[in-house]
Amino acid sequence: MTYTKRLIPASKRMALVAHDHKKADLIDWASKRIEDLKPHRLFATGTTGTLLSSAIGLPVKCLLSGPMGGDQQLGALICEGKIDVLIFFWDPLDAVPHDPDVKALLRLAAVWNIPVATNKSSANFLMNSALMTQDSMIEIPDYEAYLSKRTSKV
Ligand code: PGA
Repeated sequence: MTYTKRLIPASKRMALVAHDHKKADLIDWASKRIEDLKPHRLFATGTTGTLLSSAIGLPVKCLLSGPMGGDQQLGALICEGKIDVLIFFWDPLDAVPHDPDVKALLRLAAVWNIPVATNKSSANFLMNSALMTQDSMIEIPDYEAYLSKRTSKV
């Protein structure tokens, strides 16, 4: 795989997702981070986003609820370069009906090399990074090169 660079702007498009037993954690975390979240554009799965927006008073673009396809929508946005950061408080102690979608979301975040936090500690480390408030570059797969390599083989 060859790689290219993508600019992550200072004002980031942040996706926030929490499984049911983790929603209180995410809301608690976000409530303490309102000032840090303000400069960014927030996206979330349906239930998480609705609860979050009313708890912290910031606008949140709500996608579908996770079990109804919201994780897949976020995954698609990541592939399109439209999400810069993922905060995903998934539940390690409970199975969910949309486990394959959860795995797919985490996989695509890894493929496209976006910063991911999966619990309060990692979310704090991420938000405390100086890169959260400045432009920075990430390495992403060079899709043009990937495609031309594959198509030249046929
Ligand atoms: P929800 O979806 O925010 O609609 O609960 C999150 C998830 O379960 O992936």
